[in-house]
Amino acid sequence: MYELPKERLSTTDQAGRRIHLYPASVKGYFRDRKRYVHGFLLIVFLTLPWIHVSGRQLLLLDVAHREFFFFGLHFRAHDAPLILFLLLGFTFGIGLVTAIWGRVWCGWACPQTVFIEFLFRRIERLVEGSHRAQRALDERPLDSEKMMKKGLKWFLFVVVSLGISHSFLGYFVGTRELVRMVSSSPLENWTSFLMILVTTGIIAFDFGWFREQFCTIMCPYGRFQSVMMDNHSTIVAYDLKRGEPRRGTAPSPSAQGDCVNCLRCVQVCPTGIDIRRGLQMECIACTACIDACDEVMTKVDKPLGLIRYTTERELAGKKTKNVREYSAANPSRAWAQARERAPTPARGRQGLPRPPKGCA
Ligand code: SF4
Ligand code: SF4
Repeated sequence: MYELPKERLSTTDQAGRRIHLYPASVKGYFRDRKRYVHGFLLIVFLTLPWIHVSGRQLLLLDVAHREFFFFGLHFRAHDAPLILFLLLGFTFGIGLVTAIWGRVWCGWACPQTVFIEFLFRRIERLVEGSHRAQRALDERPLDSEKMMKKGLKWFLFVVVSLGISHSFLGYFVGTRELVRMVSSSPLENWTSFLMILVTTGIIAFDFGWFREQFCTIMCPYGRFQSVMMDNHSTIVAYDLKRGEPRRGTAPSPSAQGDCVNCLRCVQVCPTGIDIRRGLQMECIACTACIDACDEVMTKVDKPLGLIRYTTERELAGKKTKNVREYSAANPSRAWAQARERAPTPARGRQGLPRPPKGCA
C-alpha cells in the first residue's frame, strides 16, 4: 500500500528538491460553500477600489500624499499612531479567531487560497485537464501540444495576474489615477509601471507555480499558529478511533475500522499531507479531505464525518470550551495549563511519536 514519507515533507525528495503536487478536484458540501465565499471575497477585492462616495474612493491608502480614506473617514500623516491600535486589534483578533476556529483564515479567506483555488487551478484544469492529465503532460517530452497548453496556461495566468496587480495598485494610487496611468505612456509613470510588472511577476509565480510551498515554507502565520491553538481549537481531523485499524491493517475483517485506505483524502490535499497522521503544520484546513472522505463514506454506506471539523477534546470524548481560563496571576500554572492543552503533534514524523501498532 502506498505511503507518504514519514521523515520529510511529501513535497520534497530526499535531496530537498521540490516534488510537484497535482491535487485532484473534489465535490461536496464545503467545496460548494467555499466557492461562494471565495467568489464574494474576489468581487469585494476587485470592486472596492472603484467605489467612490461623495467624490472620495471608499478605501484608499495614498502613501505618496500621506492620506488614508477608510469608508468615509479621512486620516492624515499625524493620525499614524492610530495604526498602532489597528495593528493591535488585528493581532488580537487573529489570535482569538485561531484559538477558537483554528486555521479558518487559511482555508476560507487567505488570498493565497482564494486566488489559487478560485482562479489559477480552474484555469489549469480548463487548459490541461484533470490532475492525472496535468501530471502526464508534465512528464511527457516537449512537443507542440505541450508547448501550446503550457503557453496558453501561462498566458492566462499572466492576464489574470495583471488584473489582480492593477486592482491592487488602485488601493494605493486611486482608481482614477490608475485609469489615467493606463491610458498614458509607461515612461510618464515608470515607477508605477515597474511596480505593476514586479507585482504581476510575483503573483503569477506564487499562484501559478510556488503555491503550497508558500504555506509550508514561508508563511509566518502558518509557523506560529500552533502556539495560538490548543486542544479546544477547531481543526480538520481524522477520527482515529472510528477509522482504525484501516483496511489492509486489521487482523480480521470484523475488526476493521471505517477507513477503507483509499487515499482519496491524500489525493485531494493541496499541501500533500495525510490527515490520518494527525494535526500537521502543513494543514491549511481547506476541508478538501472532508468532502473527499464523505464522498467515499457515502459510497461504502458508512456515516459521514470520518474526517471532519472537530477538536482534539471532542475526539477524545471530552467537552470543548470556547472560553478557556488561564491563570494570569500564576504564570507557572498558566504554563502548565497551556502544555496540558497543547495540540497533539503529528504522528509518524521523525522525532515525534509513532502511530499505535496496526496503524500505518
Ligand atoms: S478518504 Fe477516508 S476512507 Fe479514504 S483513506 Fe482517507 S480517511 Fe480513509
Ligand atoms: S489535510 Fe485536509 S484540510 Fe488539511 S490541507 Fe490537506 S486537504 Fe486541506
